[in-house]
Amino acid sequence: MLSLFGRARHRSLMPRLLTKRVPRRRPNVIGACAVCGITFAASRERQADATRVLRVHENICPGGQRAGEVATPFE
Ligand SMILES: [Zn+2]
Repeated sequence: MLSLFGRARHRSLMPRLLTKRVPRRRPNVIGACAVCGITFAASRERQADATRVLRVHENICPGGQRAGEVATPFE
């Protein structure tokens, strides 16, 4: 009886943990690579980080034609 109760309590915690997650939102486009043209997008909270990632990407960009692709490094 006690073990059943403990298991039920544990299970009742699960939905709460799931709802704590930030819901997926449509990421905002923050810019495109000047070399290959790939677009970077991130949620509003991550825009500063994504901008840094875009700058880093431009420095190490392998080149090519990736216009139309969208990179979301934090989604
Ligand atoms: Zn690039």
